[in-house]
Amino acid sequence: MSTTHVDSIIECKGALILGAGIAGLFTALKLAPFPVTVLAGTRPGLSGSSAWAQGGIAAALGSDDTWQEHAADTLTAGAGLCDPAIAALVAREAHARIEDLLAYGAPFDRKPDGTLALGREAAHSHKRIVHVKGDRAGAEISRTLAERALATPSITLREGFHAVELALEDGRVTGLFARTGYGPQARLVLFRAPAIVFATGGLGALYAVTTNPLESRGEGLGMAARAGAIISDPEFVQFHPTAIDIGRDPAPLATEALRGEGAILVDETGRRFMLDVHPDAELAPRDVVARALHRERAAGHKTYLDCTKAIGAAFAQRFPTVHGACVDAGIDPATQPIPVAPAAHYHMGGIASDERARSSLGGLWVVGECAATGLHGANRLASNSLLEGIVFGARCADDIAASVVPRPGHGNPPAPERFASPAPPHVLRDAMTRLVGLERDEAGLREALSVIANVERAGGNEPALLNMTSAAKLVTAAALARTESRGGHCRSDFPATAAEAKRTFMTLADADAIAQNAKAAQAA
Ligand SMILES: Cc1cc2nc3c(=O)[nH]c(=O)nc-3n(C[C@H](O)[C@H](O)[C@H](O)COP(=O)(O)OP(=O)(O)OC[C@H]3O[C@@H](n4cnc5c(N)ncnc54)[C@H](O)[C@@H]3O)c2cc1C
Repeated sequence: MSTTHVDSIIECKGALILGAGIAGLFTALKLAPFPVTVLAGTRPGLSGSSAWAQGGIAAALGSDDTWQEHAADTLTAGAGLCDPAIAALVAREAHARIEDLLAYGAPFDRKPDGTLALGREAAHSHKRIVHVKGDRAGAEISRTLAERALATPSITLREGFHAVELALEDGRVTGLFARTGYGPQARLVLFRAPAIVFATGGLGALYAVTTNPLESRGEGLGMAARAGAIISDPEFVQFHPTAIDIGRDPAPLATEALRGEGAILVDETGRRFMLDVHPDAELAPRDVVARALHRERAAGHKTYLDCTKAIGAAFAQRFPTVHGACVDAGIDPATQPIPVAPAAHYHMGGIASDERARSSLGGLWVVGECAATGLHGANRLASNSLLEGIVFGARCADDIAASVVPRPGHGNPPAPERFASPAPPHVLRDAMTRLVGLERDEAGLREALSVIANVERAGGNEPALLNMTSAAKLVTAAALARTESRGGHCRSDFPATAAEAKRTFMTLADADAIAQNAKAAQAA
């Protein structure tokens, strides 16, 4: 793509943030009064996975809790791959960032004495999750931040733009190509800015069964990788054990807080299968619970989340979002077990970043789910992702404000049109779920790389598709290269965990080389 084809060029005064989920909006607010343009495909406040988050945000706020214990729980979940310094930094700064959200107006649930109500989730040693109206944390925090951003003069919000490629000069990121409209009518705009921040979310929608909105399909990861950025730990995808299995795409989520409240997992006979799998039963780490469901289903069983005893009649009032999804499907969760299945939910890997949220490319910062800070390791601790987005949003803002000089801005982009872009092809999503899912092996991963290559070939040079296939290729190639099982990555042909825990750092060229070798080995 080249500037000779663009319909307009916009010079942004300060930072350009791509993504209006919690990470992007929080970064923009922390940057104020530094000038910021926030670009997003969909409406700020309703955008990305953020608006769908149900559980809440983890922070050691209880009188019996400490940030050190929060950091320790994070390291345990991460199965040896977390960066301990990053886990400590995030757990330590959590309190201050929750205070920021309260100051912006986030309506966290409180106890009758006025203090914040704290919930428990799997693998947390203490009650430390702040919620909003039971299961509406993401929706309410997103709405609060979007309203605040709209009222902040230094922030310009532009929705309806679909970013497709980074612009580079002398190896430094200087701009972003974005389309408005789709097909022959599409107009291409080059947004140039002295600082570009990716807050583009995850990649769950590259899988056929996912809890993520369909806009979470790894395009930020793909764009950064195509520009040469180092990508870290892409093979680590978290599968949520309890997506509600009612044939909807994406699948609605039955929040982990339900299991925190005592809901149990049963098969069609009422057998509580987690008792035989892990001492913590339903509160075992997510990957353990998700794989147990996967194996029950592979063995021909049906799987249900039974909330009837633990929550019962209080369901509608305590978990209104989950209740609504169940009732729409003709299920009363107060009296009936909810059919559940594992679904692609969260990407632990992403664009490698440091403690200031800088990527390996000059001019590009990364925050939120698209970043790999080293916090999550091989498996994310529940409710640590919104936290990571705000901790690194603040750090990113500090770094940009301290190191980037705003410059005169000019140009007006064309009026945005309804967001439209090519969807990830079904064949790609199917291959990712079947072959790069909860259990992987060499033959399956090779087959997946060949499907990805075919999709890429058939798509010509469509940049949005290349962003998705690049993200899928990185996940699959890194999964093939990691010949062990650890956290969210389970190889049925390499079930043991290696003695040495090593993070993955690779470029797209490295992933291409792995794919080429796999092809050559298959042909031999
Ligand atoms: C159902 C569900 C429940 C969850 N519950 C919790 C929870 O309780 N606690 C927790 O900590 N985490 C939870 N998570 C995970 C958490 O919600 C996400 O990790 C987090 O919201 C990611 O925030 P983000 O700002 O990085 O990205 P997102 O909120 O996903 O935002 C991404 C933004 O990037 C934009 N974008 C992406 N690509 C492009 C492009 N090419 N062009 C233009 N715009 C683009 C999107 O439009 C969007 O604005 C949950 C996730 C899901 C799906």
